[in-house]
Amino acid sequence: MNCPHCNAESRVLETRQGSFYTLARRRECEFCLKRFTTVEIHQPVFCTAKPRAKAYAKTVEQRAALVARDIELARRSHEGWQKLAKEFNLERSSVFYGARRGRKYIKEQRATA
Ligand SMILES: [Zn+2]
Repeated sequence: MNCPHCNAESRVLETRQGSFYTLARRRECEFCLKRFTTVEIHQPVFCTAKPRAKAYAKTVEQRAALVARDIELARRSHEGWQKLAKEFNLERSSVFYGARRGRKYIKEQRATA
């Protein structure tokens, strides 16, 4: 990954596990020494999420975050929508639709993995 400031090569300082199916890497440019973060998402998840999340998410990072949120909503749907709505700051319908999309991503991810 090249530096967004000067386009030189960068090196990875740290890799963190993000929410489901994502990795965040802290990088440093070898030339200008500026630091930046990149987010990786599992490709099948990203591809299946694209048409649905496109309207709301403009960047790859936003899209990855939305997919991760929906998958988390699906996995934790047994905890009840009230709790999840509060925790994720969503309306009731968004919790339901999010969890439904999340279940679909999980199913598609299993099918293509
Ligand atoms: Zn640079």
